Amino acid sequence: MSANPADPSLNWQRLAPLIPNPGRYPILPPLTPRQEVALLCRVLFQEGYNDHIAGHITYRMDDGTLLVNPWELAWDEVCASDILTLDANGQILDGQWNVTPAINLHRDMHALRHDARLVIHNHSEWGSVWAACKRVPPIYDQTSSLVDTDPVIYDEYQGTVNDSAAGRAAVEALGEHKWALLANHGVFLVARDIRQAHLRAITLEWRCRLAWRVEQLGGGSPLAPETATAMGRMTDGNGFPFLWEAMARRELRRDPRVLD
Ligand SMILES: [Zn+2]
Repeated sequence: MSANPADPSLNWQRLAPLIPNPGRYPILPPLTPRQEVALLCRVLFQEGYNDHIAGHITYRMDDGTLLVNPWELAWDEVCASDILTLDANGQILDGQWNVTPAINLHRDMHALRHDARLVIHNHSEWGSVWAACKRVPPIYDQTSSLVDTDPVIYDEYQGTVNDSAAGRAAVEALGEHKWALLANHGVFLVARDIRQAHLRAITLEWRCRLAWRVEQLGGGSPLAPETATAMGRMTDGNGFPFLWEAMARRELRRDPRVLD
């Protein structure tokens, strides 16, 4: 395939003419938002978002309702039919399971950020290390630079974010930023669509893991800030076409029941 995923002018709707063998596409079957949320849970579990049953992904529908993964299920077992529908206040409208007590974090984030279709919180394996150290991981390689800003560090951990005031404080700390390390807790990020949510989540975890490894060897030379910013602006802007699709296909091969 000849399309350049780093081309900032790449518009997903205009991809077909750029692809030499369009008969092989679409590269994912049409998915409902419920299926997208379940797939994102599965894909991110494989990427380090795997603290047992911790973590939540919300998806704001056009009518203001929210989709969310259930409290009881680990991210690697969620299917589309498990996804709950909530009203804008976080009350369950439809679904068989319970909703996390920390839903206030997502409810308040969606209320504050209308540009955020998706909100993700988890205690990811490597993000939690840098969150515990209250440090922003340097960018040491290209894959760490796929998002153009640093995560903010929110350092007011006072237990879970179930409490409304604690959740609201975390939301206000994120403000207009894309992502945050919650000190002594985990990670928190927002995105405009499924592709960008996936890219931000995997970039944060990759960046945290790679920086830890580099520093274990005594440290390296971070990318020049202008180089990292230019790269990240392109890829975060277009969500890095084909990347989410490839990882979603990998998960569909592993367990196609995720769409059920
Ligand atoms: Zn948490």
